[in-house]
This record gives sequence, C-alpha cells and structure tokens, in this order.
Amino acid sequence: MIIVLRLGHRIERDKRTTTHVSLVARAFLADEVIITGERDEHALETVRKIAENWGGTFKTTYEKNWQPVVKRFKEKGFALVHLTMYGLPLPEVLAEIKKNANLLIIVGGEKVPSGIYKQADFNVSVTFQPHSEIAALAVFLDRYRGNLEAYTKNFGGQLRIVPMKSGKKVISAGKSR
Ligand code: SAM
Repeated sequence: MIIVLRLGHRIERDKRTTTHVSLVARAFLADEVIITGERDEHALETVRKIAENWGGTFKTTYEKNWQPVVKRFKEKGFALVHLTMYGLPLPEVLAEIKKNANLLIIVGGEKVPSGIYKQADFNVSVTFQPHSEIAALAVFLDRYRGNLEAYTKNFGGQLRIVPMKSGKKVISAGKSR
C-alpha cells in the first residue's frame, strides 16, 4: 500500500500544487493522499470528482497535524520515505526502499519540520537541485513501481482515453466523444 502525506497545505499558496500532488499520486498508483495543514474542501473535492469520473479506489483525506499520521503509519510498519533535495540520491537507495511494500511517502511545501527528517526511514533526493513536490513524487513513484503498471491498470472509470497518434478520443461510459 502506498500513502502520500502532503505536509502543511496553505489554501492560498498551495491549492494547485496540492491538487497536482494528489492527481500524480493517483495516476501513478498510490492508494491515498493525506493532506495536512489548512483544511481545503475545494482541493479535496476537485480530486474526488476527478477520481469519480476516471475510476479507481484512490482516497483523499485531510488531517490537521502530521504527527499522528506519522506515528500511526510507523506503528503499522510502513517505511517512511521523505522526498527532499537534502536526502540520499534516489538511485542509491531505491533497491533498499523496494524491499518495502508499504510506504508513507512524505512531501513538503513550506519549511519541513526537523521531526520529519529524523523520523523518516529514508530521506531521498531526486537530483540535488530544488524543484517541486509534484515532480519529485512523479519520478519517485515511476522508479519505485516501474511505469508499465501505470499504463496497464484498468481504473474502470466512466471516462477512458483511447490513445491516438493524433487527435483526442475519450470513451464516456461506452460512448466515444
Ligand atoms: N527545501 C526543500 C527541500 O527540502 O527539498 C525544497 C522545498 S520545495 C518548494 C517543496 C517540496 O518539494 C519539498 O519539501 C520536497 O518534498 C520536494 N522537493 C523539491 N526538490 C526536491 C528534490 N530535489 N528532491 C526531492 N524532493 C524535492
């Protein structure tokens, strides 16, 4: 099971970023995103609507504080993977991380509390340059799962894309449009 913990959401600054973190988590086959920080019904609803139309069992939940989330998943035996440019390079730690089937993947936004660095089993960098939690998550999930799974999974939604060399084709509950 793969859970993504998005730290410290701020309604004004992070609405698109948090939505995109969640959509990347879903598309790359994580099971759930837990958003901490400010409660933002709009961001939660946007992701839920997309998940409803496009299928699958992805869950979007909110909890104010990250500490109980980290404690809970540690107790359940999940490996805690914190994505940060200060961590060890992904290619160096990937094999070790792959030994774990249950991951809590933590991505930041505002300044990440030092407790996260200390409690993480793996502090992992995706390059040593500052970039984005959306990109770091996508690259990490792609490397961890192998991307074939993301291409072959049937989400079973009302909307489904028919891949084309040119043009756009979406099947909507049996009809194409
Ligand atoms: N100083 C931050 C850090 O620790 O990576 C950069 C802040 S960045 C605006 C927000 C989030 O993007 C970080 O908390 C981290 O999860 C992710 N991030 C940014 N650059 C990254 C990198 N090179 N490797 C892994 N994660 C990164």
